[in-house]
Amino acid sequence: RKALAFGQQKINLHRLGAEFEPKALRPTPGSADLCLLVSTPLVEVMAHLQRCDVAIEANDAMQFNKPSIAVPASCKQFTVNLKHVGKLPKAAMGHNWVLTKAADLQATATDGISAGADKDYVKPGDTRVLAHTKVIGGGESTSVTFDVAKLKSGESYAWFCSFPGHSGIMKGTLALTK
Ligand code: ZN
Repeated sequence: RKALAFGQQKINLHRLGAEFEPKALRPTPGSADLCLLVSTPLVEVMAHLQRCDVAIEANDAMQFNKPSIAVPASCKQFTVNLKHVGKLPKAAMGHNWVLTKAADLQATATDGISAGADKDYVKPGDTRVLAHTKVIGGGESTSVTFDVAKLKSGESYAWFCSFPGHSGIMKGTLALTK
């Protein structure tokens, strides 16, 4: 029997058809059944694996680096960390992150432009806006945390940058997942 050792941990190699105990429920060639020892409670390990946040980058070419976000239903709150990795100032190439139902994106973006830069291009009190960050310029970061209870499973959500002229390209989808 062979094993790969990593410090105090090891990965056992099984031969197909001659697996030894303990083994995976359904061993298949090329797969791995990792069994790791941890000193922290299992709930903490599960919380770490089930990330309740996401990092998104926006650049000077009017691009987000992700097309979609999955929010685990087990999260109470979810945090979006937005980083502007470009160099252009906020007034020329500002970016924010605004969450709405997919059906509300267009109208919300239009009203946001009317609201202006002082309001981060979000109409004050707009109930269609489920969460939003402020507008940031190159080299800056910001974040927003929202209650996952606001989201319904099966509903299509959209997020976008509401800076004038950006929402047509800078947008993505978001859904609640199990
Ligand atoms: Zn933008």
